[in-house]
Amino acid sequence: MVSRTTDDYRAMVVAGCAAVCEPAFWAGFDRSSAAGFYDYFGQLTEHEPRRAAKFGLPHFCWLCINPKEAEDVQLAQEVIALIPQFLSRPNVLGIGEIGLNKNSRNELKVLELQVDLAARQDQLVLVHTPHLEDKLKGTRLILDVLRADGRIPPGRCLIDHVEEHTVKLVLDRGFWGGMTLYPESKCTAARAVDMIEQYGGERLWMNSACDWGVSVPLAVPYAAQELRRRGHDAGMIDRLIYGNPKRFLSQCAKFRLPEAAS
Ligand SMILES: [Zn+2]
Repeated sequence: MVSRTTDDYRAMVVAGCAAVCEPAFWAGFDRSSAAGFYDYFGQLTEHEPRRAAKFGLPHFCWLCINPKEAEDVQLAQEVIALIPQFLSRPNVLGIGEIGLNKNSRNELKVLELQVDLAARQDQLVLVHTPHLEDKLKGTRLILDVLRADGRIPPGRCLIDHVEEHTVKLVLDRGFWGGMTLYPESKCTAARAVDMIEQYGGERLWMNSACDWGVSVPLAVPYAAQELRRRGHDAGMIDRLIYGNPKRFLSQCAKFRLPEAAS
């Protein structure tokens, strides 16, 4: 949301969105120092929730150094050292989106450091899986890191950007899977609904790519239309696009929705 307009907030509220949850993310360019991340974490935990509140939308976030900036291990260590002071802020749900981008050795090292941070601080985990051709390999590596650490139950981890060739692996190992909807590339609403119909909706949810690039903040309500078009009933749609995220996120005591929305 840090790169979206107030019109986007208004559109989400009008479409019935009950809350927004924003991962710490790549800004589209690499930040040159830990100080840049310090300011970003302040933006995510102070400024952005205030901006969202003007439109009546609760704003939650995740904190980390994202995999695209994790190649510089020393910078990553400096950023990771900054995170604990922000974790008690009221809108912080956990550590994310951590994970892998190019599946490099340095990215793996930084992933392990952030899994350790999440475990020590008893945080939920949001995981980015690579968008490149190595998504399956990257997903396997990430799940192996989480399992090797062993301190975080799979049910407290959301493995995001799953696709047809990774969703079963994620669900079989007890994790939650996130399907990230993009307007033209990657996962479309139709593909997401195909996966739901194939694997069920027990530990799956949909989220929108919503950033500085071509992306659609209303992708989840649009996917609800696709579910309706295919004949899914209102209870199933509500469970999938509202109940499931609420069930996963409520594992963090700070995740509360206004009475009217709950
Ligand atoms: Zn991601």
